[in-house]
Amino acid sequence: EAKKAGRNNFKFFNTSIKPELDLRASLKNDLFVALEKNQLMLFFQAQVNHNYQIKGAEILLRWQHPEHGMVSPAEFIPIAESSGLIIQIGNWVLRQACQQLKEWEQFPIQSELKLSVNVSALQFSEPGFTKQVETAIKESGCNPKLLVLELTESLVLQNIDDIVSKMQRLKQIGVSLSLDDFGVGYSSLSVLKRLPLDELKIDRSFVLDALERHDNAVIVETIIAMGKSLELEVIAEGVETIEQLRFLQQIGCRAYQGYMFCKPMDIATFENKLSDHSIADWLMQETSLG
Ligand code: C2E
Ligand code: MG
Ligand code: MG
Ligand code: MG
Repeated sequence: EAKKAGRNNFKFFNTSIKPELDLRASLKNDLFVALEKNQLMLFFQAQVNHNYQIKGAEILLRWQHPEHGMVSPAEFIPIAESSGLIIQIGNWVLRQACQQLKEWEQFPIQSELKLSVNVSALQFSEPGFTKQVETAIKESGCNPKLLVLELTESLVLQNIDDIVSKMQRLKQIGVSLSLDDFGVGYSSLSVLKRLPLDELKIDRSFVLDALERHDNAVIVETIIAMGKSLELEVIAEGVETIEQLRFLQQIGCRAYQGYMFCKPMDIATFENKLSDHSIADWLMQETSLG
């Protein structure tokens, strides 16, 4: 279903008569030049706290392809991974994020904002990854406490001792660690307990139909309980409706990300959003009445 929605955003599929394999091969070549030609853009999606104040943003890549228009990361990240280009792309995103944090330091509204960056399992397992993070922070001069690395559960399928020690080194640098898309993978509670995490992100597939599907509601509740017992922050992604928000509040989830607050947007639009409190004010009223 999610795949289908992604496809619809991807203009090329609607107009092309070329088979998908040709397209993947051509995108793979194009991706090599995309970085140099500045076709990759960072979008920002707000993350809000229990008062609906923006506490930070997740950086989401967009590819403005000269012929195919906006290409979704769901399409090109797998290509970047299979071609190994994800290492360079990921490093570029990291450096951009750190520079953005440094730039915000001088403004009172922005200076406390955190930025979350997605890290592919492949990128994380590169021997030079911690060094890359360290360099990006040093070169920009940003506060490492404001940088959040979003890792995925697929990482945990690798040697757990190596993962834990790499994560510990990252914690020493001062960054926060989040486990993205939590619940779709297979990490056990005993593995989770060993990881030096700061945050769990509930995958949007569970939030989506938690109100219609009791099993998914139970999963969401379980994740929140796990977060509480492990003393981790829990943030729900994909919050689209006030009903979903109310449900999340009832079961103790206090941080949210989703279209109902903010879609992913370019930096200028996001910065404007920071001084606009209308959604927060409206929601405070709505959810205190309900
Ligand atoms: P993700 O990290 O789980 O990011 C959340 C995705 O859910 C984003 O899709 C976001 O636009 C979408 N989303 C957020 N709120 C809502 C909502 O309320 N409703 C719906 N329907 N969708 C919502 P996006 O931007 O298409 O990114 C897809 C995936 O691509 C990301 O999933 C992440 O895994 C990957 N990705 C994006 N940027 C990067 C990057 O810089 N590096 C790496 N390695 N992966 C990235
Ligand atoms: Mg993410
Ligand atoms: Mg996610
Ligand atoms: Mg997800």
